[in-house]
Amino acid sequence: MPMSTGFTERLGVDLPAVAEHFGTPFYLYDAQGIDETCRAFNAAFSGLDCREYFAVKALPNPAILRLLASHGFGFDCSSLPEVALALAAGASSRDIFFTSNNTSIDELRAAIDADVFVNIDDESVLNKLIEADAVPAAVGFRINPGRLADGFDTSLFGHPDSAKFGIRPDRLLDVCATAVNHGVRSIGLHIMIAANFRTSEPTLYALDVLTQEATRLREKLDIDVTILNVGGGMGIPYRPDEQPLDLDELAGHLRQRLDQLPPEWRPKLCFENGRLITGPHGVLVTRVVNRMSKWRELVGVDVGATALLRSLVYSGVYHHITAPYAAADRTETVDVVGSLCTNIDRLAEQRELPVTREGDLLLIHDVGAHGHAMASTYNGRLRPKELLLHPDGSVELIRRAETEDDYFATLGFTPDTFSAVR
Ligand SMILES: *Cc1c(COP(=O)(O)O)cnc(C)c1O
Repeated sequence: MPMSTGFTERLGVDLPAVAEHFGTPFYLYDAQGIDETCRAFNAAFSGLDCREYFAVKALPNPAILRLLASHGFGFDCSSLPEVALALAAGASSRDIFFTSNNTSIDELRAAIDADVFVNIDDESVLNKLIEADAVPAAVGFRINPGRLADGFDTSLFGHPDSAKFGIRPDRLLDVCATAVNHGVRSIGLHIMIAANFRTSEPTLYALDVLTQEATRLREKLDIDVTILNVGGGMGIPYRPDEQPLDLDELAGHLRQRLDQLPPEWRPKLCFENGRLITGPHGVLVTRVVNRMSKWRELVGVDVGATALLRSLVYSGVYHHITAPYAAADRTETVDVVGSLCTNIDRLAEQRELPVTREGDLLLIHDVGAHGHAMASTYNGRLRPKELLLHPDGSVELIRRAETEDDYFATLGFTPDTFSAVR
């Protein structure tokens, strides 16, 4: 069952009053729920030398990042602006991984100058760092295993042999040997092979690939492999019939595998989850603005798919929708649509919902990761505000809604015309 159903009820929050005060639409995050997930995560893996580096791209808001830092989490950043955001939220460079792909040498050098731990995604990048005499003493390498164990769901992430990420295992030894020849003293290995999985297998497979490669590197290069980073991708139940990932079971299997490593080798296990940590603890609150009867019954709401782009980008994406304040006790089958001029602007299709009227609130669930962060201004639809619900029932504005001034912001510049005629 989607975990965000019920969080406002649990706290006795008067959501219609919140909607009245702040105005719809808004993203609302549940601080207590995030705290509980962080505690459960840390408890499941307690006793293991491990750390979660929250994937900043999932929910890049400093108020949330500070909350996560208070649980000992670090941050996984994929760009310099994300590094800046993590630093602005109070993280130190030692709390930050920089896991980027197809990065320019200038961006990588800036990340290295900021003293964050860089995961190198390709050998061309290492060669450029060598040329620039900028190879750090400790660095990570991302692996692309090319193959997967049977039974993997590759629908969200694709198959590794077509992925643009990571270094092939048959090149890894050479790449790492080159790195060692240029001053690298300690290595981390990184992998990420799947997304939104709710079983232990992908993480265990990831760890197996990492330990196998690390063992080979330690034997052949006599190098210290200090970090095994199994990436993110742990999933959440979006649909009512789905079960959450069993963290305790996963931790048990991981512990078993790590216990089998040679006693003189104690790598740190790292995770970079985004979705698992904040995904269930956000709802997008929207108001019905039009009821329309065409060939189907349509519920028109005051957000479009631009505010929740994953419903457009990935096929088969489902977000649970509830209407807890609708007066009717009957249900009906409707499409929930926004106001974009494209017919794929649907937040739900042929969904059974309580009968709603204009002015009713709809809650779109499990949008706490890759939700607001992916929003766009296509069609001149401005991005909604973000609110944080605290355990004492107070609600704090943590990002204002975009304004027309923001929409015009990049149009204010110094005129610059260049003659392109030869
Ligand atoms: C996107 C991403 C993550 C987080 O993915 P989730 O599915 O939100 O856990 C972690 N690491 C890397 C390298 C990523 O690209």
